[in-house]
Amino acid sequence: MTDTSRTSSQTPSIPDRVQVLVLGAGPGGYSCALRLAELGLDVMLVEPGRAGGTCLHAGCIPSKALIHAADVFRSNVRSSSHPEANDPQSTLVKMGIACKEVTLDWHQTQSWKAEVVDSLAQGVDGLLTTAGVKSIRGRGQMLDGKRVLIVPDNGADPVEVQAQQVVLAVGSREVSLPSLPASDSVLYAADALAIADLPEHLAVVGGGYIGLELGQAFARFGVKVSIIEAQDRLLPAYPKSLVAPLLKALAQDDIQTHTASLAQSFGDGYLRIVDQDKQEQEQLIRADKVLVAVGRQANLEGWGREHLALDLADGFIAVDRRGETSMSGVFAVGDVTGEPMLAHRAIAQGRVVAEVIAGRRREFAPVAIPAVCFTAPEILSVGLTADEAKAAGRGVLVKRFPLAANGRSLTLGNPTGFVEVIADSSDHVLLGVQAVGEHVAELVHSFTLALEMGAQLEDVADTVHAHPTIGESFAEVSQAALGFK
Ligand code: NAD
Repeated sequence: MTDTSRTSSQTPSIPDRVQVLVLGAGPGGYSCALRLAELGLDVMLVEPGRAGGTCLHAGCIPSKALIHAADVFRSNVRSSSHPEANDPQSTLVKMGIACKEVTLDWHQTQSWKAEVVDSLAQGVDGLLTTAGVKSIRGRGQMLDGKRVLIVPDNGADPVEVQAQQVVLAVGSREVSLPSLPASDSVLYAADALAIADLPEHLAVVGGGYIGLELGQAFARFGVKVSIIEAQDRLLPAYPKSLVAPLLKALAQDDIQTHTASLAQSFGDGYLRIVDQDKQEQEQLIRADKVLVAVGRQANLEGWGREHLALDLADGFIAVDRRGETSMSGVFAVGDVTGEPMLAHRAIAQGRVVAEVIAGRRREFAPVAIPAVCFTAPEILSVGLTADEAKAAGRGVLVKRFPLAANGRSLTLGNPTGFVEVIADSSDHVLLGVQAVGEHVAELVHSFTLALEMGAQLEDVADTVHAHPTIGESFAEVSQAALGFK
């Protein structure tokens, strides 16, 4: 019988032998450990913190909770009966809905966010316990490809564990800027998500995923936000046309943006930046706090990599399609293995590696991995963009469908954005889908499924989509691409 009384946060006595040892309990590590246990293997999961990793505790989940709260707060502020706040462009005002008074209790918002995180963390703990994974709270140090020294968090003596196979799921960490070291005023994402009080002015260094998602959320809570981006445009990883509707929304949120600009230093309530487009012109940006979000890098130190002979590729651990490193029996999954450093890639990779270890013939070779930026409007991309498809020498058919022509988007009050399909012009096989708009993130799975199954435009055009939904736009854009009138 399964012992459900013990949660994974309690460290049982550490056995000195195990079939598979997984180092790191982020999405890659815990999904791998769970699948291994489901497949009947004896598995130990070693992690100094609580299972869930950056995504659950200091990334995806807390940020999405705050983004949602910010959205609700802003909608209500804009429709409040305060004369300065009553915005005729507000959807709630247009619907005839007005609030008398809107207040924000930031400490309560933080508690709610913590509850969301805790509830999911309990879920992960419960799954691991039920599956029979031996969860150990402690730090693992590789001694060689089969031996790991575990230093338990509870101060107990270190234990050397012998494993037949090891999975390295040690994740990534924020890139830090030497000119902006972390302090009470200079925050990196994890600290910004847990900030005790909202600042009046926030300067965000980095206009990528985190800078835009969190910068916009803070602006919607009433903080005066400036975003400083080194490249000549925000979200440079996405096509320009996809980002354009977001730029309008950022302006409506009163966010100041400074592109082609580098942050130099912070002091006395100002961030000093230089504008590379304007002959290195210097500017001072008012800021009580600075959020630095300039990317992430693989965690290659602190777990004994020096005792292994692992090949690296571009700053990550190199793995083959089965997830095996250059050392036989040593596997790696998640951010430490490369881009895209996204939780859903890690989860999928972790499950494949578990099956490989269990003896199944599996490879991690998805057709496409979706990327979603949870700004308002949301932006997503899966597969090739039109430019990438053309650069690859493909004849391409590109069609864009405006959400202003989608019934459901209109009923939701903000029909900004579009869905665009890219297909091979010779056989109509889908190559990529991009979208921008409110709630489009939830559409990404039908796009990804279509790509994974090698769907042609005709397959999507002839699939009966429910009406009225935003998802219908996928059928509509495919029909338009085929020239249906
Ligand atoms: P990012 O790579 O998305 O953006 C970093 C930005 O900082 C880039 O646009 C870059 O040009 C800019 N930059 C770099 N150095 C700079 C400097 N000195 N001054 C000003 N700008 C500078 O990285 P991020 O926003 O830190 O997010 C890290 C990672 O976390 C992402 O790559 C992604 O893997 C993950 N993430 C994903 C999501 C999501 O899927 N929705 C959300 C948040 C984070």
